[in-house]
Amino acid sequence: MGARYLTLNDKLYDYVLAHSLREHPAQAALREATRTHRAAGMQIAPEQGQLMAMLVKLMGARRAIEIGVFTGYSALAVALALPEDGRLLACNISDETTRIGRPFWQQAGVAHKIDLQLRPALQTLEARLAAGEAGQYDFAFIDADKTSYDAYFERCLQLVRPGGLVVIDNTLWSGAVAQGPGKDADTRALQALNAKLHGDERIDLVVLPFSDGVTLARRR
Ligand code: CA
Repeated sequence: MGARYLTLNDKLYDYVLAHSLREHPAQAALREATRTHRAAGMQIAPEQGQLMAMLVKLMGARRAIEIGVFTGYSALAVALALPEDGRLLACNISDETTRIGRPFWQQAGVAHKIDLQLRPALQTLEARLAAGEAGQYDFAFIDADKTSYDAYFERCLQLVRPGGLVVIDNTLWSGAVAQGPGKDADTRALQALNAKLHGDERIDLVVLPFSDGVTLARRR
């Protein structure tokens, strides 16, 4: 009987990258520019960027949302996948990290697709809902403070159209979600969200044991 899952190791992971990764030169350059940042671990893995780009293209997404930009790698991956008239509403609390990535958005020729909003994401999302943009988006990616994930998810679920997709990062949290009662607020927030999404009839659901856990929630 075959195993139900693969255990990754460095050799297999390197093989996967060597046989799948197709980065734009600006993506590789942005990763290099982020490598020495004290919070470099916040950057999504390149194969995850490629997965999100694939999803955006499969859906024919034109309008996307990102919550938590960090230095801009995931925004770059999504913007490259959007059509020329596509737009990404990129929400980040400050420009401290996004300013590292913006030159690479320019280099890739996609800066015009990215609408960077520098303030608490909930304010941006509420403003878009108040402006009547519910159901106007195709794709959303949530990758910011974990204790606000549920609030972000609820706004994103309103902003995406039926058939739209909300992608949530770090939902397996290095495996901590499966280790009994959460020892910290982040773990508890993710456990509560995972439990809620499992029973949520508003969405179709997949939890990918990929990277640090990537949840796909498609609005019904
Ligand atoms: Ca993340």
